[in-house]
Amino acid sequence: MEKHQKFSLWYVLLGIWIVLILQNALMGAFAVKVIPYSQFLKLLKEGRIAEVAITADKIQGKMKNGPEGTVVPFKTIRVDPEISTLLDQYNVTFKGEIESTFLPTLLSWVVPTALFFGVWFFLMRRMMGQQQGFMTLGKNKAKIYMESDLNITFDDVAGVEEAKQELVEVVEFLKRPERYSELGGKLPKGVLLVGPPGTGKTLLAKAVAGESGVPFFSLSGSEFVEMFVGLGAARVRDLFVQAKQKAPCIIFIDELDALGKARGIGMVGGHDEREQTLNQLLVEMDGFDPTAGVILMAATNRPEILDQALLRPGRFDRQILVDRPDKQGREAILKVHLKNIKTVKNLDAGKIAAMTPGMVGADLANLVNEAALLAVRKNKKKVGMPEFEEAVERLVAGLEKKNRLINPKEREIVAYHEMGHAIVALSLPGTDPVKKISIIPRGIAALGYTLQVPTEDRFLLKKTELLNRIATLLGGRAAEALVFGDISTGAHNDLARATDIARSMIKEYGMSEKLGQVYFAREKRNRFLNLMPEGPEAYSESTAELIDTEIKKIIEHEYEKALTLLKEKQDILDKGASILLEKEKIDAEEIKALMGISDKDEKDVQKSRETATE
Ligand code: ADP
Ligand code: MG
Ligand code: ZN
Repeated sequence: MEKHQKFSLWYVLLGIWIVLILQNALMGAFAVKVIPYSQFLKLLKEGRIAEVAITADKIQGKMKNGPEGTVVPFKTIRVDPEISTLLDQYNVTFKGEIESTFLPTLLSWVVPTALFFGVWFFLMRRMMGQQQGFMTLGKNKAKIYMESDLNITFDDVAGVEEAKQELVEVVEFLKRPERYSELGGKLPKGVLLVGPPGTGKTLLAKAVAGESGVPFFSLSGSEFVEMFVGLGAARVRDLFVQAKQKAPCIIFIDELDALGKARGIGMVGGHDEREQTLNQLLVEMDGFDPTAGVILMAATNRPEILDQALLRPGRFDRQILVDRPDKQGREAILKVHLKNIKTVKNLDAGKIAAMTPGMVGADLANLVNEAALLAVRKNKKKVGMPEFEEAVERLVAGLEKKNRLINPKEREIVAYHEMGHAIVALSLPGTDPVKKISIIPRGIAALGYTLQVPTEDRFLLKKTELLNRIATLLGGRAAEALVFGDISTGAHNDLARATDIARSMIKEYGMSEKLGQVYFAREKRNRFLNLMPEGPEAYSESTAELIDTEIKKIIEHEYEKALTLLKEKQDILDKGASILLEKEKIDAEEIKALMGISDKDEKDVQKSRETATE
């Protein structure tokens, strides 16, 4: 942008220069020789003046120049008012003239000016042609894809079955919006795809468009944030206007976090432009009627930084998790991409999947490509297992840190750790049922996780329930200690959460016999007051000591409880861990079968309140 502006500045300078040259040339063409009056008189006396025209202060005329007698126009400033007698004396024809200023003025001013504007206009036209120009700034950059361009279906997206199932309904709606509006059913206005980078969020959105065969407006969140304040907002408005004309259709905002970052955090004064754009998006989302057939989709890998207003009901009210694929999922994704290359007949995709824990769809697509390149380098006709093994090695070296592809020993520890959480949770009353255990690495801290879902919304928790929760959190470490006789750093988050619960029990809930029903926590301050320096605690040193020992006592007691439990069920622990190592994931049914629990008392679980223990 900046470079371009400099470039056009040179154009303007060049233009001015050309105009000046032209003006000089123009004046030169009409050149009149200016001579002093004395020389005029001399010429007059020599009889070389042919004819003159006299104005009040000038004499113009023609003089014979040199012996050949060429006639040259001349001009002089009139000094002598009695010139006519003199002219008469030398027999020169003369006439009076009223000076016309029109033509010279025209020539010296209007023509250059006109020329200048001509050049300027020409340059502006060219600049406008290159950039979008001022007139179209508010217009949209959204790329509109039609179904034929996309050609992506759900078959091209593999390993994310849960997400696909949720999107099938959206496709149904887009195919026949009138059916839904007849029934008065309400569809979500916004669907937010959440998941780590490269898991196929963008691909899924395109597949929805491809499946339903509707226009697909795609643009990235960062494209809304513009140099000029107010432009992003104009762009949002324009996007929705266009979309409504093309309904049914999909608007897809990729990388929503660039635009939807929580307002008013961080910077003093905030980012005006982004805020305005976000506000406009919220306004538009409230303003459009989902029965009109426009569905807003967005993707992000950082849902935690999104503005809460975006996630409210009536906006992006459906959130779909696009998680890292498990072993089966990876196999399915590999099969999709293997179709594009020539492989040996008996290539085992399952084996490749087993070699690539933690990889996402984009990594696997890359892996297949890499293997194909290696085969070309080796002059092979078909891609075989050795190429894949080499490609995995290459990629893993690069991805190791990024994706935490953990080594086999670490995986074993993680598997036992997670099973430890799950078994303790399932053995104790008052803990949330376990829905899923996974050792697929995710994020930066978590190597695995155990997903628990509360059966009902809870506002009150009993003391025994809190204690059992602490035991569950400590179950991971207890399992490690029991099986390996050693403990790892993997439990630090568990410990922090367990300690938090224990501290709250004592300081806030009055659940310690030694300290009694006294509230020791300081009042929670609001965000702004929190910035003030910490004051002294509201209790004495000795009380502080007592609180610390009470917390420790709770933790130790619950740890022992978890350890004893796991000792009793070590066979289940072993079995579960080996299943996890094999499949990377265990769902609720399998866990219950393992534990010998019947599921008649299980109710439909609510999804939104899942808690994960790492
Ligand atoms: P995201 O938007 O989640 O970061 P993309 O949708 O851009 O990821 O995925 C990048 C590429 O990786 C896709 O174009 C595709 O080739 C491949 N890919 C990712 N996930 C999958 C998947 N689940 N199935 C098949 N291919 C995938
Ligand atoms: Mg993407
Ligand atoms: Zn843990």
